[in-house]
Amino acid sequence: MKFTELDLKPGILKALQKKGYEDLTPIQEQTFPHVLSGKDLIALAQTGSGKTAACAIPVVQSVDPSIKEVQALILVPTRELALQYVDEIAWIAKETDVSTFAVYGGFSMDIQKSKLAHGVQILVATPGRLIDLLYNSDLRLAEVRYFVLDEADEMLNQGFLTDIEFVFSCMIHEHHTMLFSATMPNEIKHLSKNYLDNPEIFELIADQKAPSSLKHCFEQVAPRRRFETLLKLIKDEDPKQVILFCSSRRNCDTLYDHLKKEVKSVEQIHGGLDQNKRTSLFRRFKRLDIRFLVATDIASRGLDFSHTDLVINYDLPQNPEAYTHRTGRTARMGREGKAVTFVGNRDFGKLKMILRVNRIDAEWIGETPDMSKASAGKKKRRRRPSGKKRPGPKRADGQKAEGQSATAKKKRRRRRKPKTQE
Ligand code: AMP
Repeated sequence: MKFTELDLKPGILKALQKKGYEDLTPIQEQTFPHVLSGKDLIALAQTGSGKTAACAIPVVQSVDPSIKEVQALILVPTRELALQYVDEIAWIAKETDVSTFAVYGGFSMDIQKSKLAHGVQILVATPGRLIDLLYNSDLRLAEVRYFVLDEADEMLNQGFLTDIEFVFSCMIHEHHTMLFSATMPNEIKHLSKNYLDNPEIFELIADQKAPSSLKHCFEQVAPRRRFETLLKLIKDEDPKQVILFCSSRRNCDTLYDHLKKEVKSVEQIHGGLDQNKRTSLFRRFKRLDIRFLVATDIASRGLDFSHTDLVINYDLPQNPEAYTHRTGRTARMGREGKAVTFVGNRDFGKLKMILRVNRIDAEWIGETPDMSKASAGKKKRRRRPSGKKRPGPKRADGQKAEGQSATAKKKRRRRRKPKTQE
């Protein structure tokens, strides 16, 4: 189906035409009529499917620019996703009078308050900062007619359930909720049962084009030869743009320090940088002003870098899900892309699990190692002597997660997934 077949505002059609969007993606084709008719929905979809525009276009179409209040609220788990979302809405709404803005932690609340006071119709927010603003500014949600939860499973993983429930409790008036998630854990079912009105469920993950354009390569590398192997790989591949993933801030720093002596246009991004720096890096990388980005998993989830043709897992990802998110930064929307993962001989157990869960046929650069003795199963838990409690999980960095409230922090302690330092 073509965008011109839809009854969209002329300004939106003009923007879509300028951007070169002609046909709707499958997720857009399925969800558009539903969103425009004002029904609740749950869409199980991943990034790369066009889900941002699937939601942004009908929302820009439906809000009334003459009302200077927030009419659409979009909650996202991270600051970078907030920026990506608001940028996408901004260009869709460019030829209209609709105003959009993003609020997130690490940025001046006074500036955010003054922008909100001037009238914003579509607000993108991370949960913590939104709640701070609800308590400490004139921001009200009484006019919100569209409430979007993007990457809902990730928000719940980050312990935002209580915060999300609080936001729902601020919107007792009639509104339309759209929940986008890659998976359907029990908490999403719980949210759906308590806060959504008979939602239509779209399971779009199976429909998504398998990224056959993404090549999965692996290379066994001894720790001391890792950097040298990396330089050779970069020389052989001559990529347009690369993300190099490391498992911690410290590894990021080390790799960045070495790499900037060898190649031009290198930057690094991790949770230790201040928000202005992160915002500027993220935008410059999207514009292709940066060729090599050394990153922690902070750059792995949901972000759309259309120029990136190579992802290098300099350190092995923690689990199969992290592998999918990291490698999903390339080969987007059917483009060609390659992921190269460096593997040490202690990584075989974890690697087997990544390959099995993601159903990947590994293509090895150099010799194929013998992994037959490594176990891909979960480690058996040793029993604790009776009466002794299991110590609670500790976050490696001891840092506060972005904008979380005290209740969310309590929830975070109960997180199931171990998190690496971002
Ligand atoms: P998303 O899943 O929202 O991260 O989108 C993935 C990529 O697809 C982004 O670069 C979008 O700009 C692009 N995109 C979304 N919808 C369309 C469309 N209908 N035609 C072409 N590109 C699109």
